[in-house]
Amino acid sequence: MMREIAYRQISDAGGKLLELGINTTHSGNVSIRGENDIFITRTGSRLDRLSESDIVSVPLNEEGQGIASVEIPMHRAIYQNTKTKAILHAHPPHTIVFSLLEDAIYPVDNEAFLFLGEIPVLTPKVVSGSTETGILLADTFNKGSHIAVVRGHGSFAVGENLEEALHWTSTLERSCQMGHLLRTISEFRYKEIVRARKDEIRRKERSTFNVGRGPRSTFKNKPGDKSKL
Ligand SMILES: [Zn+2]
Repeated sequence: MMREIAYRQISDAGGKLLELGINTTHSGNVSIRGENDIFITRTGSRLDRLSESDIVSVPLNEEGQGIASVEIPMHRAIYQNTKTKAILHAHPPHTIVFSLLEDAIYPVDNEAFLFLGEIPVLTPKVVSGSTETGILLADTFNKGSHIAVVRGHGSFAVGENLEEALHWTSTLERSCQMGHLLRTISEFRYKEIVRARKDEIRRKERSTFNVGRGPRSTFKNKPGDKSKL
């Protein structure tokens, strides 16, 4: 049963990543948490044509990879150190380019800023598949982020399910497209908006600090909460 649910969720998300132009045919990987296992795409699988045999399960708390994606150590470290139920790793082109230019990404549009706030850009020593990267990412998610970017590599989004992780991934990529558009039309206005976003985040951090540290409220909005849009 779990395998069936995993297959349906993973193949749906995989197909959408290609449809939206976020991934190439064989890049990225997607997983969901089982009871004591991780269900993940096998290495070299084609995301828009996944069959049930392309979804493999690996133990959550034991080393070992088998034919699972080479990035399984990262997924495992994130599951071990957070409560997340699903992880979606993608290679969104605009997001990756922004990660090469910035230390954090600040969405220029209101919707992405409301949902995602400041998006951390991480620069681990080994950018692909390492446990160290997984631990860094887990730490970022535990601070309240839904999505983070490994510089020059790609995005990692977490959620209650893959639908949610896909929402964060496509929202960020679309926002970076808008950022690119705005930058080409007016670099001045782009910088002005980024500065305002940074100020808002710092103000919120200061007020959160005063009432006791906790997840930043900016990141607590869930999909469908349009009250502030
Ligand atoms: Zn990758």
